[in-house]
Amino acid sequence: MSQGITLKMHLDGLSLRGQSDPAAAEVIGRIAGAASALSRIVACGSLRDDPGRTVDQNAAGDPQKAIDLRANDLFRDALRGSPVGVFASEESECVEVLDGSGDLSVALDPIDGSGNIDLNAPVGTIFSLVRRPDLARRSAAPTFAWPAGTQQLAAGFVLYGPQTTLVMTTGESVDLFTLDPETREFSLTRAGIRIPAAAPDDYAVNASNYRHWEEPVRRHVDELVSGAAGPYGRDFNMRWHGALVAEAHRILVRGGLYLYPGDARDTHRNGRLRLIYEAYPIAFLVECAGGAACNGERRILEIEAQSLHQRVPLIFGSTSMVDRILALHHRPALWPTSAAPLFATRGLFRS
Ligand code: MN
Ligand code: MN
Repeated sequence: MSQGITLKMHLDGLSLRGQSDPAAAEVIGRIAGAASALSRIVACGSLRDDPGRTVDQNAAGDPQKAIDLRANDLFRDALRGSPVGVFASEESECVEVLDGSGDLSVALDPIDGSGNIDLNAPVGTIFSLVRRPDLARRSAAPTFAWPAGTQQLAAGFVLYGPQTTLVMTTGESVDLFTLDPETREFSLTRAGIRIPAAAPDDYAVNASNYRHWEEPVRRHVDELVSGAAGPYGRDFNMRWHGALVAEAHRILVRGGLYLYPGDARDTHRNGRLRLIYEAYPIAFLVECAGGAACNGERRILEIEAQSLHQRVPLIFGSTSMVDRILALHHRPALWPTSAAPLFATRGLFRS
């Protein structure tokens, strides 16, 4: 329920690590303004343009749709003349220096889940705010340096679904704002989100990749599929939206587990998600809401970025479920002799 607190009011009182920070508040306000404009464009579907048209490909070789580039331009233009010195986007090969004096940097996934655009399924925007990295830390290559996830000042995402919502944190509470389609104002609809620890029901994974996964991931998904007959002793539902933002939103409000692991294929060794634009901000939100995020072996926020478009396996959600996958990774002794659900001790083919 609306508590009469607009995003603008929330940002006016914004403090980072105990200090008020009007510069960061301005940047988040500009991102929210651009997201409001983008929500109208998304809602128009193909009335005026074909948003799902492939127009190019990015540095990583992923196809770029018209909506990816349009959204990228929208956010970049919104941040010009703001305290953002460096703008890094999933859609741009290199970082862009927007203002020589700006002390802040933004990493942005302008459209998350753009494959959904033709399906009228959810898409989103993910953002992360850091102090401007020293891009020329060393004179010789590599000159790349981006602060680790633990250094984020703020992070959030916008979900363009049936409602347009913005979830953000500055490292303390995680708050949800809903865009009023009439007034174009975001208002607080859920403050201090905590990921439910008890009885999370859902998990999300692209199970068609099962045969490529590493053993600890297979084992854990086998446990989940085993449901009431497996070690969890209860049944789960599986969900898959095809957009990280939609999965993150569901886990924040309902709990559960999301996995995009690395696998044996050359194209998927580190999964498909990007550390700076996706994993860092989602992990920051999830941890601030009392959940956990790892790459299967270690905490996402402590992984150092080696390159701008680095990919990383991403597993996040309710702490108990993330802890289980970490335990399976580090202690193979936990692996049962056969965890395949159909042949598990309490499975269908129990002798
Ligand atoms: Mn994305
Ligand atoms: Mn994207």
